[in-house]
Amino acid sequence: MTDTTAGGVSRTVTRLADGRELIYFDEGPAAAPRPPDTRPLPPSRPSVELRHDVLHDEWVTVTTHRNTRTFLPDAAACPLCPSRDGRRSEIPADDYDVVVFENRFPSFAASPEAASPETRPSPVDGEPLFARRPGDGRCEVVCFSSDHTASLGSLPPRRIRTVIEAWADRTAELSALPGVQQVFCFENRGEEIGVTLHHPHGQIYAYPFVPPRSRQVLASLERAAGRDLFGEVLAAERRAGTRIVVDGEHWTAFVPAAARWPVQLHLYPRRHVAGFPGLDEDERAELAELYPALLRACDAYYDDDAPLPYVAGWHQAPRGAHDTYRLHLQLFSIRRAPGRLKFLAGSESGMAAWINDVAPEQVAERLREVVHKDG
Ligand SMILES: [Zn+2]
Repeated sequence: MTDTTAGGVSRTVTRLADGRELIYFDEGPAAAPRPPDTRPLPPSRPSVELRHDVLHDEWVTVTTHRNTRTFLPDAAACPLCPSRDGRRSEIPADDYDVVVFENRFPSFAASPEAASPETRPSPVDGEPLFARRPGDGRCEVVCFSSDHTASLGSLPPRRIRTVIEAWADRTAELSALPGVQQVFCFENRGEEIGVTLHHPHGQIYAYPFVPPRSRQVLASLERAAGRDLFGEVLAAERRAGTRIVVDGEHWTAFVPAAARWPVQLHLYPRRHVAGFPGLDEDERAELAELYPALLRACDAYYDDDAPLPYVAGWHQAPRGAHDTYRLHLQLFSIRRAPGRLKFLAGSESGMAAWINDVAPEQVAERLREVVHKDG
């Protein structure tokens, strides 16, 4: 099935051999029909459960399927490269622009057998304090390019635009799934972040609960009843100016006043927009230019010729908070100096109380310097 999204992108939905969904996002008209996935994969049966931490009022995900054997014929082969020369990957086509598919080892997945009240899991050890429920969400992988050696920052604006269309499409569709509370599009980049696949890709988590960080924000928004807190933060940063990295026509990039990481960058749309689906044509177009430029600036941040390890997370409004919660990027790196990493030790890991050794204003100054050098 093929249809067209905004930005002239053709979207074709198909299924992998084990039943997982795969979607091609082609620039321009859809490519010729792709070959089916003929790998001998057993049906995908992820096992995911959520356990409630009653003291912190947080859900913790417990997955046990990640130990299942891998069915790739060659462990060294990249599963995100196109299928070529007799080698079969997760993507059956011999080329693609952007492709999204359901993760084979998801942290959340719909569990049809657990949907009815009779089969819902009982509390852990029968103790009512230890609530347990199925991890009914969804996890997807987004391949940004068929080029194994590319990076998101190295891709042309046309391709970034296609990635934005894919994010918007997936956000709209996943948000509509029953039980999904928030959709998070993110990219982990670099071995230091724990990335094992070098192929340029990101992930999408459709959470069956509102994650703790978002709940904190929702609580602040509630306390600020009636005020546009995101708009106020943005206005204050623009007034101060000391931490602004790029002030575009529709987007503003800045280092937050209370940054917690050695390198941290936030990017807000100037207008209140709840998520990718709400961005208009001009906002998408500017983002497609600005985002890769900011990623290149991050890579140039330290004079060390080593790409910056980072987590780039696109935060979107949880279910029911579209009027107050604004779409924004939070990017951070754990590299605190060339060859040195910040470890989350006692205060951060144990207490979630952050100590940052670098002044946010200094980080912004350096980012301004390198983003402008990039032209
Ligand atoms: Zn690859």
